[in-house]
Amino acid sequence: MLCSRILVAYDGSELGNKALKTAIELAKANEKIEMDVLHVVEVPVLYGEFLVAEPNLRETALKYGKETLEQIKDTLDAIPNKTRTFIGEGQPAQTILDHAQANDCDLIVMGSRGLGAFKELFLGSVSHNVAQQSPVPVFIVK
Ligand code: ATP
Ligand code: MG
Repeated sequence: MLCSRILVAYDGSELGNKALKTAIELAKANEKIEMDVLHVVEVPVLYGEFLVAEPNLRETALKYGKETLEQIKDTLDAIPNKTRTFIGEGQPAQTILDHAQANDCDLIVMGSRGLGAFKELFLGSVSHNVAQQSPVPVFIVK
């Protein structure tokens, strides 16, 4: 078996959705492969140089985060594999790496780019940092 638990880093972007579809294709190889989908909300939120940790902002960010995961519920329910969804808080790359380690995920699937507006670079900062620091294989979808 290529892997036993896949971690999908999901940000709701087009490539995030493509990463999810790819992970599902991989999981179809064996019903025993489990899948974790993690969406990280950046709290405190960074506005320019200011860190904002206002309680309402956190609640709002988490609410949108939950809605983002809600949108893929049917897609996950449609496969026979065991799936779980998680909301993380903090820096996305570190939170993704920590989740993979704490939950014994042996493959991370993510997009090359995400929601960021700046598309000059081949990799976004999250996929760059995860690919560079992960001890387990990282499948980057483009
Ligand atoms: P940047 O964020 O550096 O401006 P970007 O948004 O284009 O660039 P990334 O954020 O690196 O690119 O996104 C690449 C992939 O990382 C996404 O397709 C998704 O799989 C994952 N990812 C990014 N942000 C998050 C997040 N908040 N939670 C979970 N996964 C994420
Ligand atoms: Mg991004």
